[in-house]
Amino acid sequence: MKTRIGKTFRWEMGHRLPYHSGGCENIHGHSYRLWVEVIGEPDEQGMVIDYYEIKAIVQPIIRQLDHSFLCDRSDTILCEFFQQHPHFKVQYVDFPTTAENIAQHILSLLLPHFEQFPNIEEVRVRVAETETTFAEVSAQLSNRVKQTQDQQ
Ligand SMILES: [Zn+2]
Repeated sequence: MKTRIGKTFRWEMGHRLPYHSGGCENIHGHSYRLWVEVIGEPDEQGMVIDYYEIKAIVQPIIRQLDHSFLCDRSDTILCEFFQQHPHFKVQYVDFPTTAENIAQHILSLLLPHFEQFPNIEEVRVRVAETETTFAEVSAQLSNRVKQTQDQQ
């Protein structure tokens, strides 16, 4: 039976939205929470994927982001600042650092890893930057199990 499983992660990170007219243009940070969910048929051992595998895939990304500043490359003020202070931990990205875009970014980093598991049909990523808000994106992995069966 198709089953959805998930694992949660958290990290601390600074950011700002330089073009936001409200408070988010200020430098601030969040205790981010991430839900990684995968949907697929459990294998003969009863697992969609070992939680250990999910952690092994996701943890390196969390390690990079944790206690860093996520800097939009178009934010010239902060890019200049970080160039002058190269000892700070900064991750540069090519998008405004909204929860929506962070979720999409993380999903795109995860997909190549999950594609190696032929029973996984869908990957879903949810990012929450506050207690009351979240952004969620998902991607279908091409129905490889079915395709394989069709070819036989
Ligand atoms: Zn924020």
